[in-house]
Amino acid sequence: MQNESKKSWGRGVIARYREYLPVSQATPVVTLGEGSTPLIETPKLSDRIGARVFVKYEGLNPTGSFKDRGMTVAVSKALERGAQALICASTGNTSASAAAYAARAGIRCAVILPAGKIASGKMVQAIAHGARVVSIDGNFDDALRIVRELGDQGEFAIVNSINPDRIAGQKTAAFEIVDELGDAPDIHVLPLGNAGNLTAYAAGYSEYKKLGKSRGLPRMIGIQAEHAAPVFHRRVIEKPETVASAIRIGNPASWEAAQRAIDDSGGAVEIVTDREILEAQSWLAQTEGIFVEPASAAPIAGLLKLAREKRRDLMPKDLTVVCTCTGHGLKDPEIVSAKFSQAAPVAPNIEAVREAITRS
Ligand SMILES: *Cc1c(COP(=O)(O)O)cnc(C)c1O
Repeated sequence: MQNESKKSWGRGVIARYREYLPVSQATPVVTLGEGSTPLIETPKLSDRIGARVFVKYEGLNPTGSFKDRGMTVAVSKALERGAQALICASTGNTSASAAAYAARAGIRCAVILPAGKIASGKMVQAIAHGARVVSIDGNFDDALRIVRELGDQGEFAIVNSINPDRIAGQKTAAFEIVDELGDAPDIHVLPLGNAGNLTAYAAGYSEYKKLGKSRGLPRMIGIQAEHAAPVFHRRVIEKPETVASAIRIGNPASWEAAQRAIDDSGGAVEIVTDREILEAQSWLAQTEGIFVEPASAAPIAGLLKLAREKRRDLMPKDLTVVCTCTGHGLKDPEIVSAKFSQAAPVAPNIEAVREAITRS
């Protein structure tokens, strides 16, 4: 399309933030209208935390997670370089996103997944978009090792977050937050898995500060699950386990970069239990109306823990806090449906239905 660089035509992070991204006139833009997700003020969460808390609801991206922000840039650049096929290792959302953007671009996509560890909604997406799905008898870290080797042989373009185009796209979430708040928040909390997203946010905040678009930089706080917490424990975890499958990672690819971003910002890494994650998930859904997948509830659980432990070193009162909720709750329906046993149907009359509604 002519003059596309001059006007920001349509939706999508490349249209909105082209000047900050590694794209040119020669880049064919592959987009599904990702980004521009809502920043939702959460009054009940704010009350419990003693700060003004916003949720950046990344579950509202086209495939239901923040991965789409990076994928639009990574797939556009791969296409520009002449790639015929994409490959990724995934805990689920990267494969859902890669499959959708590959379909859009008209190229093939192979996804390498840890067998039996992918939430059903994410698996359904990869299949629906026509990706070649290969399950391995290993964990995510094994899958990523294999993908790196296949990518090195030149047959496939890797679209994991070790691809810098992914990180470039993902930093646009930080731009959106500053554009909306008029400044950076004081604290930014997010789940920490392969650590690409925290790295991307830190890069976005610092780029915007250099441009004079914000005054400060937020403390970056990464939240890991108790038994999948390599960054917290400062050692590789061989067999990471958590209900939050998107952060079930024992050896993060962007570990060093994320650690530096956390240290430079005066931030921290905290851990939460699976039980705290599931409690935070249902509390957020039932009090703020925001349904997120377990990994995305981890930062909410982390914030509640910091508040409970009165960690005023990290969270002095009356600050502005943004919490990224990375993926939609519908990605992982079994987590919730397991708690819900279908009651027997009642007679089709008002009395029986009223009795059923009020029954405790
Ligand atoms: C990928 C993912 C994460 C982890 O992000 P990293 O960049 O790997 O740290 C967290 N939550 C969800 C829903 C994800 O899909």
